[in-house]
Amino acid sequence: MRLILLGPPGAGKGTQAKRLEDLHGLKQLATGDMLRAEIASGSKLGKRVEGVLASGELVSDDTMIEMIAHRISSPDCEKGFILDGFPRTVAQAEALDEMLTEHKRSLDSVILMEVNEDELLDRVAKRAIEDGGARTDSDEATAKHRMDVYKKQTAPIIPYYKNQETLQTVDGMRSIEDVAIQIDAILGL
Ligand code: AMP
Repeated sequence: MRLILLGPPGAGKGTQAKRLEDLHGLKQLATGDMLRAEIASGSKLGKRVEGVLASGELVSDDTMIEMIAHRISSPDCEKGFILDGFPRTVAQAEALDEMLTEHKRSLDSVILMEVNEDELLDRVAKRAIEDGGARTDSDEATAKHRMDVYKKQTAPIIPYYKNQETLQTVDGMRSIEDVAIQIDAILGL
């Protein structure tokens, strides 16, 4: 099964993707985690993107498309994958469609986690405290900026997937368990 979890920062995509990976063996592909691992390892790519992540802006489409193209063709993604944090622009969504078509594959589902923005900023602030400052982009101003970037650059992919009739919506303000039930129902799990 191949699916996308879509939603603003703090919507709970990572939590739900991790659960689907643990329970159903689908590989979670979290682009933010991949980038943070590159930064931690001090790689060339990590050095290049460090400032971008800290600012809350997006890494370039070319870099992200290359990263995902490489990952989804790996053997551990054969059973399927959950994209968490990709695509984040219409150009990335289009490139993903091309990659899948090339491999004669398609997406099974795109799940939008709908949430209330004010509560999200509270969640992001709480997560920052729990993480003990592990993320460089969770101070209040940067968190707000990431929300603006989501609205401007990522939200336009919602109509893109609505047009393809692959988009389904869950109420992301419910408890983790309730959101999981909604997602499982959509996926028939
Ligand atoms: P996340 O952990 O998903 O919130 O991602 C953290 C940061 O990584 C984002 O604010 C971006 O700077 C960068 N990032 C992650 N995924 C992407 C993507 N698909 N396109 C561009 N930048 C990304």
